[in-house]
Amino acid sequence: MQDLSGKVILITGASSGIGLATAHLVASRGAKVIINFHSNERAAMEAVQLIREKDGDAIAIQADVMKKEEVNSMVEQALSSFGTIDVLVNNAGGGITQSSFMDMSEELWEETFSLNVNSVLLCSQAVLKHMIPKKNGKIINVSSAAARIGGAGESIHYASTKGAVNTMTIGMSRELIEYGIIVNGVAPGMVETPFHEKFAPNDNRLERMASAVPIKRAAAPMEIAEVIAFLSSHASNYILGEIINVSGGR
Ligand code: NDP
Repeated sequence: MQDLSGKVILITGASSGIGLATAHLVASRGAKVIINFHSNERAAMEAVQLIREKDGDAIAIQADVMKKEEVNSMVEQALSSFGTIDVLVNNAGGGITQSSFMDMSEELWEETFSLNVNSVLLCSQAVLKHMIPKKNGKIINVSSAAARIGGAGESIHYASTKGAVNTMTIGMSRELIEYGIIVNGVAPGMVETPFHEKFAPNDNRLERMASAVPIKRAAAPMEIAEVIAFLSSHASNYILGEIINVSGGR
């Protein structure tokens, strides 16, 4: 188990799924957590309360990661509350809705890139303004196994964004190590979160796809959180520019 005492970790999209599990896990290991949410304030506030009840420290901040001003304001609020940010987890994301390639609208394509790719740029730039002068920090980008397989049906837009996240992760790791900043990625396969209901309601996506995974089940969000916690910790300090697949052999 990695000790995260004293670290301040900002997790985007931490009101649900993988981000929420990561918030609880890193808080239980001593980190102070900034829980970013977009629409689900109740879940974010509940998480803050639960973490505080267990003697942890957390705050929730609303921001749309697609909007530069909101991202900058989130980072300012985080810094004024905790004084520093040691780790940024670029986790917020999703597929928005399914579409075949031929029916893909430019609007859906652009919105998916805004949510999954531009957000990584905006959040990373905002946090790096603080990390670069102190020459220390970690950034963890949440990608997807979809990047390697082109998407699991009517999701080329989503898979393409995660391909971009992988490329960004490698490029960022090479450019930012000069400032002592370590960048890595995590690529989950199928994870049991509300993501699938939002992306493809009534599709039984999880059950259908879990049988195609060698391990024959979807991951629990905590199984992804464990890898993010490892990448946040000193235990992973020599790992750089990797995208770690956590996909049950997919
Ligand atoms: P969830 O749908 O459970 O959670 C998504 C989170 O993103 C929520 O906290 C949501 O906030 C937040 N979010 C969405 N839009 C915005 C926005 N514009 N600004 C800020 N926050 C936003 O999904 P997962 O936990 O499953 O997904 C987390 C990450 O993992 C994503 O990047 C996803 O692509 C990736 N992933 C997921 C897989 C899976 O099988 N579940 C597989 C591979 C990768 P709110 O609810 O407050 O609006």
